[in-house]
Amino acid sequence: MNNGKVYIVGAGPGDPELITVKGLRAIQEADVILYDRLINNDLLGYAKRSAELIYCGKLPNYYPLQQETIHKFLIKYAKNGNVVTRLKGGDPFVFGRGAEEAEVLQAHNISFEIVPGITAGIAAPAYAGIPVTHRQYSGSVAIVTGHRQSGEVQWENIAKGIDTIVIYMGMRNLAHICEQLVTHGRGKQTPVAIIHWGTKKEQRTVTGTLSDIVEKVSTENVTNPAIIVIGEVVKLNNKLSWYQHELANIDLPLII
Ligand code: SAH
Repeated sequence: MNNGKVYIVGAGPGDPELITVKGLRAIQEADVILYDRLINNDLLGYAKRSAELIYCGKLPNYYPLQQETIHKFLIKYAKNGNVVTRLKGGDPFVFGRGAEEAEVLQAHNISFEIVPGITAGIAAPAYAGIPVTHRQYSGSVAIVTGHRQSGEVQWENIAKGIDTIVIYMGMRNLAHICEQLVTHGRGKQTPVAIIHWGTKKEQRTVTGTLSDIVEKVSTENVTNPAIIVIGEVVKLNNKLSWYQHELANIDLPLII
């Protein structure tokens, strides 16, 4: 039997309308969909009725065995001639392990396509009214993982060389991250925003500075999943925060 094909698709950050046309088509054409925890389940409603939907239940921790199982499933279904869509939150190549899966497929001679998605690190700030670059405030932005121990992330270079710092998976290490940035010369008053469940109805934003954000997050009880944005652009949240207003108005009766 001929091999099928695998689409490794970015589902976007949460708002189901933030998927690409190509990503949506990959959902509609799939015989099998393997999907992750952070995708919006509404998107599965576009699948064929006969499609097999498999939840990969990725947890925040690192489970090598789980990833191996996903690889085995991808190979098995593709080798049986299916069109397989591997649906991941945000963009599949931004902390999404999409490349590891593509490498396995390549090693097994299975054809694949990568369908980029809108990554949470850009979309969640945008929905909170924070542009990651701005002619006046920021000419550079870094996408950083907050879940590795120091040593693996060069906090000193990031603190000194980058205007806007966007951190994924950083909530558990927030205190450490703030301390590293201050130690390496970033001002204590540098603005910080934490955006929880960006682009979803549950979106919440807490703002502060490198010196007080840890306390604010604990008072407001903000948890994962969240994006941390650090830099002067955060100040624009005051003026440009549009989505929170939309959410607040959502249930208002229409006055004619
Ligand atoms: N591939 C994904 C990132 C996966 S890593 C992307 O491109 O967006 C998982 C981390 O992404 C979470 O720990 C959190 O930091 C962030 N994240 C994903 N979706 C999010 C959302 N809707 N709101 C806030 N953070 C989100």
